[in-house]
Amino acid sequence: MIELRTPGEIDAMRAAGAVVARMHAAARAAAAPGVRLTQLDAVARDVLADAGATSPFLGYAPLPTTPPFPGVVCLSVNDVALHGIPTPQELEDGDLLSVDAGATLDGWVGDAAITFPVGTPRPADLRLVDTTTRALEAGIAAAVPGNRIGDVSAAIAAVGRAGGCGINTDHGGHGIGRTMHADPHVPNEGRAGRGVRLRAGLVIAIEPWFLAGGDDEYRVDADGWTLRSADGSRAAHVEHTVAVTDDGPRILTAPA
Ligand code: MG
Repeated sequence: MIELRTPGEIDAMRAAGAVVARMHAAARAAAAPGVRLTQLDAVARDVLADAGATSPFLGYAPLPTTPPFPGVVCLSVNDVALHGIPTPQELEDGDLLSVDAGATLDGWVGDAAITFPVGTPRPADLRLVDTTTRALEAGIAAAVPGNRIGDVSAAIAAVGRAGGCGINTDHGGHGIGRTMHADPHVPNEGRAGRGVRLRAGLVIAIEPWFLAGGDDEYRVDADGWTLRSADGSRAAHVEHTVAVTDDGPRILTAPA
């Protein structure tokens, strides 16, 4: 079932989204060579506690067979595209780090991701992040009343394919509100003009994740979470929670 939000509810979701933006800023400021992923998770936990917010990620288990997620952020390094666990792994100079964060505030959820290089950036990583960011921007621009989900999906994929990236639609964007994952699914590739029609009040997370090698395949580690490119190439993942409004897309997880 697809739920629509009132302007007041969208304002409340913006408050949750602002906490997510602060988690990103704190994690980005703390990320450096030699820092452990567990330390970044701790930094993000402090932001949640200061805001009086809780984590929709911590303990999340989409299937009975999935071990509950142990962190408040997914930290995905290099060939890890999604769902990286905050382990004691130390960041190294030149790593490419994705920080996917969520916050629940007053019962409303925000969800967003950023990807950035740690220390000395590799030019290829900067190109990958640029492509993924432009795909997110194109997807957001398509999130207007009268369009369909397929228009968002097609806009994302057009940028990714033009950049030579691999795209897999097993994981993608989603409706979001009082729970993190709601209808509709927002695939990162699809046909323009198809799918659910967008109406003012629809709130969706839009989240392209691209694989630099151009291969669409991935594999998941034995931990049940860590999702890596099958070809070993690096990955980038960026995401915003976005409200469809009559005044255009409103990004609810942008920095304040
Ligand atoms: Mg998401």
